[in-house]
Amino acid sequence: MTEKKVFILSLGCAKNQVDSETLAGVLKGAGFSLVEKMEDAQIAIVNTCGFIQPAVEESIDAILDLEELKRAYSLEKIGVVGCLLNRYGEELKKELPMVDFWAEAGQWEALLADMGSSAGEAFQEVLPGHSVWSRYLKISEGCSNNCSYCMIPSIRGPLRSFAVNEILSRAEFLVEQGAREICLVGQDLTAYGMDWDGKSHLLRLIEVLNDKFSGSKIWFRLLYLHPARVNRDIISAVVSSDVFLNYLDMPLQHVDPEILAKMNRGAFSEKDLRMPFEVARELDPDFTLRTTFMAGFPGETEEHHSKVLDFIEEIQLDRVGVFTFYEEEGAKAALMPEQVPVSVRERRASEILELQSEISYRRQQRFVGKTLEALVEDKVEEDGKKAWGRTYRDAPEVDGLVEIASDKNLQPGSFVKVKIKEVYEHDMAGEAVERED
Ligand code: SF4
Repeated sequence: MTEKKVFILSLGCAKNQVDSETLAGVLKGAGFSLVEKMEDAQIAIVNTCGFIQPAVEESIDAILDLEELKRAYSLEKIGVVGCLLNRYGEELKKELPMVDFWAEAGQWEALLADMGSSAGEAFQEVLPGHSVWSRYLKISEGCSNNCSYCMIPSIRGPLRSFAVNEILSRAEFLVEQGAREICLVGQDLTAYGMDWDGKSHLLRLIEVLNDKFSGSKIWFRLLYLHPARVNRDIISAVVSSDVFLNYLDMPLQHVDPEILAKMNRGAFSEKDLRMPFEVARELDPDFTLRTTFMAGFPGETEEHHSKVLDFIEEIQLDRVGVFTFYEEEGAKAALMPEQVPVSVRERRASEILELQSEISYRRQQRFVGKTLEALVEDKVEEDGKKAWGRTYRDAPEVDGLVEIASDKNLQPGSFVKVKIKEVYEHDMAGEAVERED
């Protein structure tokens, strides 16, 4: 069995990060050893993302860099895997002759064969290099929503949900490895199970995980829910659970019914759209709500855009992300009439962000003087008396951080109660009042 050293460079979203961890496990199971630095590797593999154009560019730059590095570090081989290949397969192979092996997302056996190996006796779990205590858990693959601006369904295929038992044992395994926070991810969590019988089984999954982990000190976080399928039962299950955090990420993209219909986001009124946000805040006024908007979709007028701004003002969201519409090659929306000039898309996106920054700051102020639990992520000072952490309000990588001052050493991966002293638009600062030993 070979013992070649492999370096994996993971690009793109949280879902791709999970794929990289799986690939690392497959490689380890087949006898390869994983290294954290390119200079220690004999083989480098880049796991690409092919979702929206800037991600494609990032992926291509990374592959070109690898070609340079292949020479500089005397790498024996380089491989390119993942979504970019699902999308641009043959074209890409022709343009990048220095790449030695290729594999689409999930085609790991074929990759091993190309690497001159075969699947090992057992998949060997690989801990992520950075934060063992905060992990992503994919509950499904692919997507069947077919939003008109998105190529994911054709890149990643239709929705395939993993069995409840499989997810449960994966969660148990992550906890055994030291996870304190598990973020459930998928292209759309509310579609979970719809490939079985047309109904969403997300509520059942929340209940099963809650029954299993209730009483233990684990955080579960739900990322990416389609607002059309978030109902009172799901929100109540989250609010009454002691392990699910009162935090929801529900990408809206727009609020105008006409634009939403063109986006193929489902037919629903503005009232339907408000419902999950209102219910969440009714059940817990401190519920943290995150959403994403898309600015400048074809046919979006100033009036449509003003509706988005009014909605943001009315709902007082905690966190908002904005994309400017991008004509994805092959997506229906790219060919729609009434394309909005790029400068207008950008102006609208900055108006949304500008308005939201005041609101985010206002929402943060609610927490001054309150005590929030935080998961310690990183030490700021070597003695551990100042550290960065995240509260229930902060999903990893996209939201803010809390700077924690303490008279005792703070250990990354532990929970600490923090009295909030100061807040900023995204971040907070406070003092540790109680920590885990
Ligand atoms: S929900 Fe829509 S935007 Fe998200 S992956 Fe599916 S098709 Fe794309």
